[in-house]
Amino acid sequence: MTQAREVRTTCPYCGVGCGVLAKVAADGAVTVRGDPLHPANFGRLCSKGSALAEIIDLDGRLLHPEIGGKRTNWDDALDLVASKFSQAIEKHGSDSVAFYVSGQLLTEDYYLANKLMKGFIGSANIDTNSRLCMSSSVAGHRRAFGSDTVPGTYEDLEKADLVVLVGSNLAWCHPVLYQRIVAAKDKRPGMKIVVIDPRRTMTADIAEMHLAIAPDGDVALFSGLLGYLAAKDRLNRDYIAAHTNGFDEALAAAPSLADVAAWTELSPETLSAFYALFAASEKTVTVYSQGVNQSVSGTDKVNAIINCHLATGRIGKPGAGPFSITGQPNAMGGREVGGLANMLAAHMDIENSEHRDRVQRFWASPAIAEKPGLKAVDLFRAVGDGRIKALWIMATNPVDSMPEADAVQAALAACPFVVVSDVLARTDTARHAHVRLPAAGWGEKDGTVTNSERRISRQRAFLPLPGEARPDWRIIADVARRMGFAEAFDHQHQAAVFAEHAALSDFENGGARDFDIGRYAGIDAEAYEAMQPFQWPARPEGRESIRFFDNGHFYTPDRKARFIAVRAHEKAAPNPAYPLTLNTGRIRDHWHTMTRTGKSPRLSQHIAEPFAEIHPLDAALHGIADADLVRLESPHGSVVVRALVTMRQRRGSVFAPMHWTDQFASNARIDTLAPAVVDPISGQPASKKIDIRMHKLAAS
Ligand code: SF4
Repeated sequence: MTQAREVRTTCPYCGVGCGVLAKVAADGAVTVRGDPLHPANFGRLCSKGSALAEIIDLDGRLLHPEIGGKRTNWDDALDLVASKFSQAIEKHGSDSVAFYVSGQLLTEDYYLANKLMKGFIGSANIDTNSRLCMSSSVAGHRRAFGSDTVPGTYEDLEKADLVVLVGSNLAWCHPVLYQRIVAAKDKRPGMKIVVIDPRRTMTADIAEMHLAIAPDGDVALFSGLLGYLAAKDRLNRDYIAAHTNGFDEALAAAPSLADVAAWTELSPETLSAFYALFAASEKTVTVYSQGVNQSVSGTDKVNAIINCHLATGRIGKPGAGPFSITGQPNAMGGREVGGLANMLAAHMDIENSEHRDRVQRFWASPAIAEKPGLKAVDLFRAVGDGRIKALWIMATNPVDSMPEADAVQAALAACPFVVVSDVLARTDTARHAHVRLPAAGWGEKDGTVTNSERRISRQRAFLPLPGEARPDWRIIADVARRMGFAEAFDHQHQAAVFAEHAALSDFENGGARDFDIGRYAGIDAEAYEAMQPFQWPARPEGRESIRFFDNGHFYTPDRKARFIAVRAHEKAAPNPAYPLTLNTGRIRDHWHTMTRTGKSPRLSQHIAEPFAEIHPLDAALHGIADADLVRLESPHGSVVVRALVTMRQRRGSVFAPMHWTDQFASNARIDTLAPAVVDPISGQPASKKIDIRMHKLAAS
């Protein structure tokens, strides 16, 4: 009989990156518990993490390669993928092909996909669903710091006197981080929490202040805070002079308190109370996530927040700093390997010829992408208008998760050649694939992920590969070799891929600034297996910790941080045909398009069906009662959901979760409503402010 064993791995859901101990009993039954030694969670797990053992059955799995919906063998499937991509490149050029990848991929998968597209195909047409999650933060960091550097750590949240949560429902979307804040507040009752969100979310229940801000009012709010800090002489003028540029221009853009009140629809008294609390709290962390990033002004919002931290010198210190929390388990790992269409591996810059040259020499590649590729929304537009002839989608479901989801579906239906590699056989995206490639899932594959505080942890296999499934990195290498790049993709083990990624990132050898994981450049399979979670920048010998920006040096040419002068856009006039504002988001117990959490009856008990939160006055105006079925409509689509009438919602706004697909409910694909409108700097879609109308569904 097989011995029971316990394997140390990492949760595959959110960007908190909790450590998980997965126990496989002698009879093969799997149970999970939080890893008490993992520094992200110290043994805690949320509802999703603790239900992981319930979602690892093989129901609905893609177990064999398929061509045209029929089972085939790996050689035929891989030969076809390689030849179709090679033919498209030969006939139409390297920009006629694209990859759309995912923050669910492990770093090793992400690295090889980027290497193939940017270094060997010679295009940067590889973008990721992380574009929908944190690309505005990436752009904001680069503008302010000269690099995409997240300075915060989870410990900072526990050490802060004031935690400001902007557009972040931590209680449901990053539950273990929320638990850590609650525990810290229990120990230090003087610690204050402010939640800035149009909805009164569960997170607001622990807050001293909830600012029910008008959608997209954040630029005005934080730009106004900068003005307040200056007016009340609460600036750190020494820090501004020594370590920053552009303060005067940013201050000149600050609106008056009356203008902020008009924009945010918050009273001057509420604004003054928040501003005074911020001014008085030296140890302040401002956490932000999708409510900031998913906006036409997402990048400006990020910089408005960073401006306030630079103005007070509250950055690079324990318990202080701006802190963008990532949504997905490996959004940060994707950033390390250049997973976005406008980035290069190892945090290098695709528009910097020296960086391109360094990466090309390292890869010994025949080509290197010379310009940024198509960002997600533009990428699917290019699929729709025929510019993309061959598309490979890895581990994601854009037919349900992209804005104007029906247009994305039509684009895939018209695309000459679509490959989908995924664990599931029949997602709404996989239905459009000419070739389906079975990928290994969580618990079946080995690799690394990086969480929101830049901590790299191992995901480890504890289950056998089912059917003919293969790890993504291996599938990518298999295709690359068939496209003629055998030598560069001859990795025999995931450790070899990680070792190569680490070598390219080696600071000592001219790799990315301070992204010093170079000590893993020579790592072998045994050491990789034993790897413990570690945070970058790595701690040098003899130093307890190293903290980004603790010396006041940034990654701009003059080493100074940049204030960005941001101005709130003119408020758009209400759209009389679509007078309500839809805000989309997540619920506590489901993840993305429910392909995994939808398997757990326990998780589905929390909220069993798609719904819309509606303010009581809006409900009354529309003749809607609690639990009625309502239709939400935008110019792009319509959905039917259950009304949840609640004072938690702002008047004029409606909230609906984005999880449900046709597999779990009919007519509930929320992203069919969202317009393909993006932040002009980051390319991130604006999923939080969608013009809709609503009416009660007549009883049939
Ligand atoms: Fe997994 Fe996130 Fe929950 Fe941690 S908080 S167990 S990473 S879903």
